[in-house]
Amino acid sequence: MQLTDLTMLELAEKLAAKEVSSEEATRASLARIQQVDPKVRAFLRVDEAGALAAARASDARRAAGSPAGVLDGVPLGLKDLFLTEGVETTAGSRLLEGFVPPYDATVVRLLKEAGLPLVGKLNLDEFAMGSSNESSAYFSCHNPWDLSRTPGGSSGGSAAAVAAREVPGALGTDTGGSIRQPAALTNTVGLKPTYGRVSRYGVIAFASSLDQPGPMTRTVADAAALLQVIARPDVQDATSSDAPVPDYSADLEAGVRGLKLGVPREYFTEGMDPEVEASIREALREYERLGATLVDVSLPHTKYALATYYLIAPAEASSNLARYDGVRFGKRAQDARSLRDVYTLTREEGFGSEVKRRIMLGTYALSSGYYDAYYLRAQKVRTLIREDFTRAFQQVDALLSPTSPVPAFKLGEKVEDPMAMYLMDIYTLPCNLAGLPGLSVPCGFTKAGLPVGLQILGRPFDEAGLLRIARAYEREHDFFRRFAPL
Ligand code: GLN
Repeated sequence: MQLTDLTMLELAEKLAAKEVSSEEATRASLARIQQVDPKVRAFLRVDEAGALAAARASDARRAAGSPAGVLDGVPLGLKDLFLTEGVETTAGSRLLEGFVPPYDATVVRLLKEAGLPLVGKLNLDEFAMGSSNESSAYFSCHNPWDLSRTPGGSSGGSAAAVAAREVPGALGTDTGGSIRQPAALTNTVGLKPTYGRVSRYGVIAFASSLDQPGPMTRTVADAAALLQVIARPDVQDATSSDAPVPDYSADLEAGVRGLKLGVPREYFTEGMDPEVEASIREALREYERLGATLVDVSLPHTKYALATYYLIAPAEASSNLARYDGVRFGKRAQDARSLRDVYTLTREEGFGSEVKRRIMLGTYALSSGYYDAYYLRAQKVRTLIREDFTRAFQQVDALLSPTSPVPAFKLGEKVEDPMAMYLMDIYTLPCNLAGLPGLSVPCGFTKAGLPVGLQILGRPFDEAGLLRIARAYEREHDFFRRFAPL
């Protein structure tokens, strides 16, 4: 057993027992990155010096008998969308190449205060727009289960790094599925918290009414422990919630006996891979065996979710990305001769084609004359989608569905077809539109050995319920014990 084979909490136990130091664990992670990342390409940047300094500080606290918390000393990776003071942050874009933030995102500060050495910045789709990590301006990330395939996106680097055991956990962000979908494609656990549960301050904005950071780990218990560190009210984020933060680990082992779990009809339609469907149906039967009651439910407005999301998210993105003007952040076009040139050439050279497509779609949807027909309409449908969930949760405690309609697809397979790429989000994005928490837990493999993820959606602020439901399944099927063949 190698140190990098341990889950976050297993490592935390060894740190607490002083069987291993944080410096050893962090060095093991750095060595593993050196060994496998040339194949996986999960990291855009490794901060060896910063991570080792944090690890030594953790060991000193431990020696003095005052660790900062359960996860003190456990190394972690960060999607390159989180601002890190003094460490370049690019959002996977050429436009932000060389941008060194002057401050930490709130979640980064919380992680540092809790003592976790941050080993580096993880690959992603440019500005988190994508489902395959292929829109990264730097290089594509590969799925550790099959290097010719995508790890999903946009938090593909985070998922791949955890699946490849380069780090025991990572943070991702989820605007339409970007934590859950890559988790499903890599046999890892991904949790998108309720909108407002985790601060967005210092997280490079894509679509502000949808974005939410969250944990990506190998086990459900690790996700609970990591969420515990980052779930806080934050005065720096006006949308952050003051709702009390429960103990996410308290009920993990409580099981599902007596719970009502909804199976939304609209999430089991054509287009789903038959092997994915078979795994999910088997998981549903498992929940029945474990004492839950399955309830057939309907979320009738689901069919409008994709169109609604692809109006609202690009609209917000077009507004958020207006700040990249060549003056304040990152890159500036070299041969600009006028102020107008500075704006247009910088954006022309700095943004990739998917980002440009979104900016154009969003600007159009918001433009005078079209606003009412598109943006405003989408907001109204968004309300209908949220009400579907409210009604369903009067009947059931949580909803079960596939996370992704298909297992990991080949790199290059969908890059020429944006619509096919957008369809990857069909089961994940209604949850963002409704602001709900959602989780993906490993639920088996296809015959070709590709992971499948089960999605669990819950009531606002019921992260603890989702974790408990996911854990009940994980206890019976510890797929996380299976390692990607690297
Ligand atoms: N794949 C979706 C998109 O491209 C979701 C991305 C995300 O959640 N950041 O918009």
